Amino acid sequence: MKNIKLAAREGRPISVVEAGGASFGREFAVIAGPCGVETEEQTVATAKAVKAAGADMLRGGAFKPRTSPYAFQGLGMGGLKILGTAGAETGLPIVTEVVDPRDVSWVAEYADMLQIGTRNMQNFSLLKEVGQSGKPVMLKRGMYSTLEEWLNCAEYILGEGNPNVILCERGIRSFEQYTRNTLDLSAVPALAELTHLPVIVDPSHATGRPGLIGPMSMASVAVGAHGLMVEVHNNPSEALCDAKQALTVDGFKDLMRRLRGLQGFLGEQDNEEKVAE
Ligand code: PEP
Ligand code: MN
Repeated sequence: MKNIKLAAREGRPISVVEAGGASFGREFAVIAGPCGVETEEQTVATAKAVKAAGADMLRGGAFKPRTSPYAFQGLGMGGLKILGTAGAETGLPIVTEVVDPRDVSWVAEYADMLQIGTRNMQNFSLLKEVGQSGKPVMLKRGMYSTLEEWLNCAEYILGEGNPNVILCERGIRSFEQYTRNTLDLSAVPALAELTHLPVIVDPSHATGRPGLIGPMSMASVAVGAHGLMVEVHNNPSEALCDAKQALTVDGFKDLMRRLRGLQGFLGEQDNEEKVAE
């Protein structure tokens, strides 16, 4: 692919990106938490529940890029402080979205990893700023973007001297309306050919439907994703954003149980192949 230099695979091993104790690219990592930080009680309760179920990292937006300017925009600084409390109480590292280059330095004080959302994938001044922050970055795929455009955006971050970038496939726009987006699972093995950067999948925004999150999570493991990001809320019916797609705490526990079963199965297959060799 033309002009993909720092991100290009070119025979390199998959990079391992460490973020506050969570590790991407070596073992499968699961990020879970609410779409938005709403209250301390909601965030801490959800954080404790996902930690108990085996999550490796807590997510939660303090800055929400919403389609409507009248929708809940996040708690800003107050939300970051709540994330700090939830992280301290559970020991979970934190990933949170940053939407404005002017906010990067102080969001970086609370986050173990900075998230660039789909709507900002090509916000080049933001990409350069997070590239200079020294923090690991999760770069979500633009909802209308090709793999080449996406990798060019990773190149902007890497070019600032920040090697700690992971990619997150979160679905792209198609003519289909039943699902919120169309999850491009072929992106996962395609990216393994093209780049050494770890790739995770967000089945929550990709499908918008709790009933599809489990099956697409299992499929993500099967195509070689390095992790997942899933939205979980302690009381989905009260959620201020993305209420319809949030897993309940019990739904998340069940998902983790099924993932472990699948990973055990795949591990056994690998071992059998090694014995047969
Ligand atoms: C999110 O993860 O909170 C989010 C807003 O996702 P996306 O940018 O993929 O829509
Ligand atoms: Mn969301």
